[in-house]
Amino acid sequence: MDFEFSSAQKAFRRDVRAWLAANLPEDLKVDDAQDERVAPNRAIFERRRAWQLKLYNAGYAGLAWPREYGGRAATVIEQFIWDEEYGHARGPVMPGYFGLNMCGPTLMQWGTDEQKNRYLKRILTAADIWCQGYSEPGAGSDLANIATRAVDHGDYFSISGQKVWTSGAQYADRMFLLARTDPDAPKHKGISYLLMDMKSPGVEVRPLVTMNGHEHFNEVFFDNVAVPRENLVGRINEGWKVAMTTLSYERGFAGGGGHRGQVERLAALAKTVELGGRPAWEQAWVRQRLTELLIDCEAARYARLRTLTRMLKGLPPGPEGSILKLFGSELGVRIARFSTELLSTYGILGDPTVAVPDAPRWMNRVLSSRQYTIAGGTSEIQRNIIGERTLGLPKG
Ligand SMILES: Cc1cc2nc3c(=O)[nH]c(=O)nc-3n(C[C@H](O)[C@H](O)[C@H](O)COP(=O)(O)OP(=O)(O)OC[C@H]3O[C@@H](n4cnc5c(N)ncnc54)[C@H](O)[C@@H]3O)c2cc1C
Repeated sequence: MDFEFSSAQKAFRRDVRAWLAANLPEDLKVDDAQDERVAPNRAIFERRRAWQLKLYNAGYAGLAWPREYGGRAATVIEQFIWDEEYGHARGPVMPGYFGLNMCGPTLMQWGTDEQKNRYLKRILTAADIWCQGYSEPGAGSDLANIATRAVDHGDYFSISGQKVWTSGAQYADRMFLLARTDPDAPKHKGISYLLMDMKSPGVEVRPLVTMNGHEHFNEVFFDNVAVPRENLVGRINEGWKVAMTTLSYERGFAGGGGHRGQVERLAALAKTVELGGRPAWEQAWVRQRLTELLIDCEAARYARLRTLTRMLKGLPPGPEGSILKLFGSELGVRIARFSTELLSTYGILGDPTVAVPDAPRWMNRVLSSRQYTIAGGTSEIQRNIIGERTLGLPKG
C-alpha cells in the first residue's frame, strides 16, 4: 500500500474541507455522530433530511454509488477522505444511512429495474428514509430464526408478526424486512426479502428508550399488512442471499467512529483535570494509557486502508469487515472506560461542570459505547466469523 495521497486526492480533500466549512450549519454539528445517528426529535430529523438533500445537490450523497444510479462514482480512497473530513467537521450521520449504505447497494445488486427506478434516487435525496426489519424477539444472532410470516396471496403478501430494535423506525418511510414465506422449509430456505411502506394499514411502531435516554430504536408490529408482490426483492423463499448482501454492507460501518477525536479530547482534558491532587497529565500511567489508545486508533486506520487496498485491487471483501467491526467497537468501549478513570465522578455527570465542560459527552460515551459491540452482529459472532473464515478453526 502506498500511503501517500495523489495530488488529485489532496485537491479533493481541500475541496471537501472548504465546502463543509462553508456549508455545514453550526447547530447540526455533533461530537459523537454515531451515537446520535437517529435524530433525537422530529425537528432535528427534518433538518438533517434537508441537509442530506443539500449534500446530494452538491454531489456528496451516494459518493461511491455508480453514476447510472445518481451517485458520484467516487473511488474508495475519495470515500475514505470524505469520511475523515466529514468526521473532523463534526457532520451528523445522514438520516438516510440505512438506504444509502445498505438497502440501496442491495437493490443495485438484486432489485428489478422497476425497483431501482422507483427507489434509488429517492434514497439519495432523502425523499425516502428506510429502516431495517431483521431482528425479532426470537431472532438476533440466529437471524434465520425469524417468525414474522408473509402469506402469499398472488399479487400481494400479507405480513403478520413483530420486529424489535428497529433503529429510526419512528421516522422511516419504508422498511426492508425479512419474513417467512415457507414455514415448512429448512429455516434458511423459506425466507423472503420484502419492501414495506411504513404508512400501510396494520403497521404499529412503539419506541424503546435506551439507557442514555435516546429514542433510538423501536418495536414494530404487523397485523395483516399488505405488501404488493412487486416489492419482493430476489426470488420468493430465497431472501437469505439478499439479506446477507445487505449485512456485508452493514459490517463495513458498524464499529462506531470518531475514536481518534475522543482520545485527543481526553488528552487535552488530562492537562486540566487533577487526579489525587496532581494534574493527571503528570502521571505516567495516564500518558501511557493515552498513548496505547492512540496507537490503537492508528492501527484501526491502517486496517481500514488495508481493506481499501483489497477493494482497489478488485478483490472481494474478506472477513476484514468483521475484524474492523470487532476492533472498532471494542476500542470504543476501552476509550469510554478510560474516560471514567481519568475524569472520575465528572465522567458520570449529565451536566457540564467547570472542570469538565463536556461532562455529558463522557457520560453518554460510557452509556453508548457498548451498543456497537451488539448492533450489526455481536462481538462473539464477529469472533466466530474471524475464527472460522480467517483462522480456519472448526465451527463453534
Ligand atoms: C443500538 C442497536 C441498534 C440496532 N438496530 C437494529 C435495526 O435497526 N434493525 C434490526 O433488525 N436489528 C437492530 N439491532 C439488533 C441487533 O442486530 C441484535 O441485537 C444483534 O444481532 C444481537 O441479537 P440479540 O439482541 O437477539 O442477542 P442474542 O442473539 O440473543 O445474543 C445474546 C448473547 O449471546 C451471544 N451469542 C449468540 N449466539 C452466539 C454464538 N453462536 N456464539 C457465541 N455467542 C453467541 C451473543 O453474542 C450475545 O452476547 C440493533 C441493536 C442495537 C444494540
